[in-house]
Amino acid sequence: MNIILMGPPGAGKGTQAELIKVNFPIPHISTGDILREAVSSGTKLGLEAKSFMDEGKLVPDEVIIGMVKERLAEDDCKAGFLLDGFPRTNEQAKALDEVLSGLDAKVEVAINIAVPDEIVIQRIANRISCPSCKAVYNLKFTPPQKEGVCDKCGSELVQRSDDSEATIKNRLTVYHEQTNPLLDYYKAQDVLYEFDGYRNPKEVFADIKKLLESI
Ligand code: ADP
Ligand code: ZN
Repeated sequence: MNIILMGPPGAGKGTQAELIKVNFPIPHISTGDILREAVSSGTKLGLEAKSFMDEGKLVPDEVIIGMVKERLAEDDCKAGFLLDGFPRTNEQAKALDEVLSGLDAKVEVAINIAVPDEIVIQRIANRISCPSCKAVYNLKFTPPQKEGVCDKCGSELVQRSDDSEATIKNRLTVYHEQTNPLLDYYKAQDVLYEFDGYRNPKEVFADIKKLLESI
């Protein structure tokens, strides 16, 4: 199944992707994770992307689109994929449809996880994550068992450099201006499914699971 995960920063896309992966074994492609890895290993892509990310801006379309195209052409995507953090602009959505139609495929499910801005701000201020296995924790609501250590793999947890209060405001503005309008694009294709993300992650997942099992 070809799935895209949408929603504002902090909606819980990464958390839901982890849960989806367990029940539906398709590759999870997070453009944010790919970029962060490129930044930490200091590749050309990483050097190009870092300043945009730290300011809460989008990395230019041509950079991201090329990166996703390459990833989707890999063998493990033939049986489906879960795209997280892409598309975020009109250009990206169109490019995705083009790439997929070349592979005789299409977006089958667009999942939107909706969360109000004030909640996003609260959640992100308390977010820490694992740089190795990508598990995400919230210091208030879902803390790790041992402070600063990943429950799943034992790595040291970190706060993302773009999770500062100033940056999150920019990310929300960008989201409302460029990404939220894409919901209409997928509604028109009759593949949009919306979920209330202001709930416990397990409850959100129960609804997503029901949907995916029914398709
Ligand atoms: P979040 O959903 O919490 O904002 P992500 O991990 O998806 O975070 O993305 C972090 C940053 O990486 C974004 O703020 C942006 O700079 C960059 N980025 C990720 N995906 C894209 C994309 N599809 N287009 C442009 N920039 C992107
Ligand atoms: Zn971990």
